[in-house]
Amino acid sequence: MQYFIDVIIPVPLQKLFTYKITLAESDFLKSGMRVAVPFGKSKIYTGIVFKIHNDAPTAYEAKEIHQILDDSSIVNEIQLQLWQWISKYYMCTLGDVLRAALPNAFILESETVITKNKDEIDESILKDDEFLVYEALHHQSSLKIHDISNILDKKNVLPVIKRLIEKEAILVEEEVYEKYKPKLVRYVKLHSNFSSEKALQNLLEDLGRAHKQKEVVLSLFSISAKTKKPVKVSDLSNESGASPAIIKALIDKGVLEEYHIQTDRVEYSGEDNEDSKTLNEYQEKALSDIQSSFQNHNVTLLHGVTSSGKTEIYVKLIENALNNNKQVLYLLPEIALTTQLVTRLQNYFGEKVAIFHSKYSSYERVEVWNNVLQNSAKAQIVLGARSSIFLPFNNLGLIIVDEEHEQSFKQFDPAPRYHARDTAVVLANMHQSKILLGSATPSLESYFNAKQNKYGFVELMHRYNNVLMPDIELVDIKDKLKKKRMKGHFSDRLIEEMTETLNDGHQIILFQNRRGFSPIIECKTCGHSPQCPNCDVSLTYHQYRNQLRCHYCGYNSAMMQDCMACGSQDLDNKGFGTEQIEEEVKTLFPDYKVARMDLDTTRGKYGYEKIITALEQQEIDILVGTQMLTKGLDFRNVKLVGIMNADNMLNFPDFRAHERSFQLMLQVSGRAGRTEERGKVLIQTYNPHHNILQQVSTNNYMDMFNEQMNDRYNYKYPPVYKQIKITLKHKDYNRVETASIWFAKSLRQVFKENVLGPESPPIARIRNQFHKNILVKIPKDQSLSKTKEAIIKINNSFSSVKDFRSVRVILNVDNF
Ligand code: ADP
Ligand code: ZN
Ligand code: ZN
Repeated sequence: MQYFIDVIIPVPLQKLFTYKITLAESDFLKSGMRVAVPFGKSKIYTGIVFKIHNDAPTAYEAKEIHQILDDSSIVNEIQLQLWQWISKYYMCTLGDVLRAALPNAFILESETVITKNKDEIDESILKDDEFLVYEALHHQSSLKIHDISNILDKKNVLPVIKRLIEKEAILVEEEVYEKYKPKLVRYVKLHSNFSSEKALQNLLEDLGRAHKQKEVVLSLFSISAKTKKPVKVSDLSNESGASPAIIKALIDKGVLEEYHIQTDRVEYSGEDNEDSKTLNEYQEKALSDIQSSFQNHNVTLLHGVTSSGKTEIYVKLIENALNNNKQVLYLLPEIALTTQLVTRLQNYFGEKVAIFHSKYSSYERVEVWNNVLQNSAKAQIVLGARSSIFLPFNNLGLIIVDEEHEQSFKQFDPAPRYHARDTAVVLANMHQSKILLGSATPSLESYFNAKQNKYGFVELMHRYNNVLMPDIELVDIKDKLKKKRMKGHFSDRLIEEMTETLNDGHQIILFQNRRGFSPIIECKTCGHSPQCPNCDVSLTYHQYRNQLRCHYCGYNSAMMQDCMACGSQDLDNKGFGTEQIEEEVKTLFPDYKVARMDLDTTRGKYGYEKIITALEQQEIDILVGTQMLTKGLDFRNVKLVGIMNADNMLNFPDFRAHERSFQLMLQVSGRAGRTEERGKVLIQTYNPHHNILQQVSTNNYMDMFNEQMNDRYNYKYPPVYKQIKITLKHKDYNRVETASIWFAKSLRQVFKENVLGPESPPIARIRNQFHKNILVKIPKDQSLSKTKEAIIKINNSFSSVKDFRSVRVILNVDNF
């Protein structure tokens, strides 16, 4: 008898590869273990054993494996099932899924990546072979060692790489991850000089005249006596009523000492966890509704308005699951994985919380992986972004998908193009566990599923503490312009409300869904506007760096002095972004602290946390930002939210633009007035009668839902129809056009009028690749798997046409 294994290797192959093993190996091996296997002429890959069997492959002679890498499985049966489901449902290979699922450190061959140094060097110092590599990096953004072997046509290329590094021509990219350990909160303690009672006595006497300073020192004592914990600068300031300036004076004098502690380390004392909060009657009701809904629905949707206290309900459910010795997965959008929520959960559950995050190093991810695999106490609760659905849970009792409407749960590139919420529903099913989807603004598809009774449904319509929902006012900018009541992009109403809010000592958030200074620069003489050389978009002006940048490929160039086409100096800005708003605010309110939060300001180490913390500590009065601001943040002192321009969201060319605008605006509004006093929201628009704006201002989810569903029925969009988007890409426009016409025609023969396109997307060329889209709409009563089979068949014939072979085809299931 012969023994074989089918192995999943991290390459996009349609079929699994079969290898030969010995009898002894077949006794030892289990599915889910890693093996090193030869592939192609000379490559070695780490693969996962999928199946052990006795059937020799018919098409080729099976090779032997190189080595077994594990003593026990690192991937369990349920995971392999989930991988298969993903590969089938999202039309990708198991190799694609493996790449996304395993931490890189598990895939041993993962190679070093070489990139070009951005600063140009003097090329004359390069030897011939060095120059070849350097030159290649002008055409390709990165190379791996084996690419360089190919370029130089020799095996040992490390000496060349080493010399290129020494000449500063290239950079070697080890995985550069930042540890997720923000140490941002400022603390103070009494300087050690005053630790003796005598010294302290003297100090208090000395301070006798400086009344306020004495007050601060005494408050410091009373807080630390009460909490027995380090004292935050902000708490000290609140308790003593002293301004930050007075505290700073004491620090400068050497009376107090300022220090920083990692936020997780402070509260992470392990033993003395906080008890979870007692729920109010509405939360209590929602909790018991959820529990009874779970009796007959594994999936339940919780629609709870912003600040209704959903998180505290999740905490109760988690406690329950832990009492039953189950594992819990708490999924949330990447960006919402801030210290705020992490700290909150660690306060309750201490060491049981493991965090899984793209900012984690490969090593840390392996640690979480192993803890989950071993069902260790340290990872009873996994708090993670999208990719944490791939962890090796073996005893999962509960999944929570927080902010379930968030688009970032969907992976767009590369394959697998999965939606983490939907995959989590499947995962929960495999584990027979419960799953709760929570949101203040549920996605249409989840709400629809709830209405169809496919999901259970629970509502929570009261804010915690009975804080009223913010008062939302629409400001007609067209009218304001006519009456000359605009200063830059600010209406008189917005300025009035801002002035009042600031006078009362409260904070403001201004929302503008575009970064940069202005998205279009236009010559007033000839109408020319600078375009990206690689993409079909205009370049955005970033004033801070005096640069023009492409938001699609990262291209940038210095801002020009005059028009490149006609030389005129009369250049005009069209549209506006966060930078411009920030600048205008600074002119309008010169005495207040303004900060900006967008991709550009949050890039650096802890960039995001720094801004959040500064806002929390009230070091910022006005924060200008993009949709980053919306994600589940809880600020106590923000009273006013201004939405600078609602129209560009509403007019976005996408069937979900209205739904998204509704969600975005309500979520941003939800940041206003979360405690005690009612918040205020001003929405500036050219079109105050737009239905969505009316629905936002009355917080009328049902109206929005009904109206949008109507459109979805009429135009055959999800969730009424399913859809698969097929994108073709090529650097030659004619080629991609011919190819896409061929593809669409073949699809039409099967799916008739349910095929749309091919169409050029609004941005038809990105990174020098022309795109064409084809959309296949799938009625509810049409078999999804048959539809996919037909598409795969067409795709296979497509790739056998010689002219089309170089055209990239991307299949995207549920592409929204
Ligand atoms: P949501 O997630 O629905 O927006 P949160 O769970 O963040 O709301 O709750 C809003 C605020 O109310 C938080 O500051 C939270 O600490 C507080 N809160 C919610 N429920 C309770 C409770 N039962 N007891 C005390 N405070 C609560
Ligand atoms: Zn010009
Ligand atoms: Zn570009």
